[in-house]
Amino acid sequence: TSPIEAADPAVFAAISEEQRRQVEGLELIASENYTSEAILAAAGTVLTNKYAEGYPGRRYYGGCEHVDVIENLARDRAKELFTAEHANVQPHAGSQANMAVFMTALEPGDTFLAMDLAHGGHLTHGMRLNISGKYFNAVHYGVREDDQRIDFDQVARLAREHKPKLIIAGASAYPREIDHPKFAEIASEVGAKLMVDMAHYSGLVAARVHNNPAEVADFVTSTSHKTLRGPRSGFVLCRSEYQKDIDRNVFPGLQGGPLMHVVAAKAICFQEALQPSFRTYVEQVVANAQALAATLTAGGLKLTSGGTDNHLMLCDVTGFGFGGKVAEEALDRAGITCNKNMIPYDTRKPMDPSGVRFGSAALTTRGMKEAEMQQVGGWILDVLRNVDNEDAVARICEAIRELTADFPVPGIR
Ligand code: PLP
Repeated sequence: TSPIEAADPAVFAAISEEQRRQVEGLELIASENYTSEAILAAAGTVLTNKYAEGYPGRRYYGGCEHVDVIENLARDRAKELFTAEHANVQPHAGSQANMAVFMTALEPGDTFLAMDLAHGGHLTHGMRLNISGKYFNAVHYGVREDDQRIDFDQVARLAREHKPKLIIAGASAYPREIDHPKFAEIASEVGAKLMVDMAHYSGLVAARVHNNPAEVADFVTSTSHKTLRGPRSGFVLCRSEYQKDIDRNVFPGLQGGPLMHVVAAKAICFQEALQPSFRTYVEQVVANAQALAATLTAGGLKLTSGGTDNHLMLCDVTGFGFGGKVAEEALDRAGITCNKNMIPYDTRKPMDPSGVRFGSAALTTRGMKEAEMQQVGGWILDVLRNVDNEDAVARICEAIRELTADFPVPGIR
């Protein structure tokens, strides 16, 4: 029996059920993935016992010689992977990585320019209840109404008008490749620093399928658990000139001791992403997203910007006579996990928006290819046509279990 089961049957039972859900269902949440068995194992090691405030060679605790090795490996690999001058691998999550840049580039009350949450931005980019929106003055750009691509005329106009100290590129629900050099040009014109939050597409950048923001931005932030396929965590890349400030603002600015078990898992993640096989994986992620997008479009769903260049797509489901809430719940009953999502210029409310968001990263990790994506797209359409027909949904759920049985999840036997 597992030591977890012996110590805490209630927690063990819930973990087991979650494991079953991850194995039997179709994971289409665009921000999720399955880590390798090695990463999963590293996150569950004795490193969780260790305090390591400070940085390698300059710690506030004894006994850090081994964790120093690990953090140096993680930093060096991150720098190599993204050709960055400096990497801080201590942020507990993407949100802390972003706050470290805010603390470095801004004073409370300063203005920054970022993508509107309602157009695909992230809540740490100035949502009013987030610290980014409470302590700083957020101005937002969006996408054009006609083609739902980033409106660079608006970005430039707002930058000239508001003179932000920081411009942020990067998003949570934007299905197209982002033109980082264009953002850099605008930032340079108005004397702003540029931060790129590549949380969603850092795997695509690592594989050089998406242009590399580290080449043009002052700061690059990311999570490690989305397309990069690492543990749940974050990191910051920057030019050498900001190294001292970024390090000081992560610790002691925002955090105490780093989660060294997660830093070890990040080191393994960066190493995996440096392998040629990772590029093959990412190319399949993009091919799979395109196959799914084509199937859904052929079935009558309207996709934001008409398709996708990356791992995700935003679909307007209102043509089926309901919003994203009904769609998400019906898909969930069939074993298809996704999230309801606002679409640009949405007239519905965030708790029941017009869209749902799908991503291909997790299913690609299980080994699925274009043929399975067409099948998955067919089931999504079937569920949406049958949201009130429990028999139909149950039949789809059964078919999904049969398919997923053939595609193992790493680390789960
Ligand atoms: N930045 C972007 C663009 C994201 O999509 C996310 C997560 O969804 C984050 C930051 C925040 O990451 P975390 O949830 O790890 O704090």
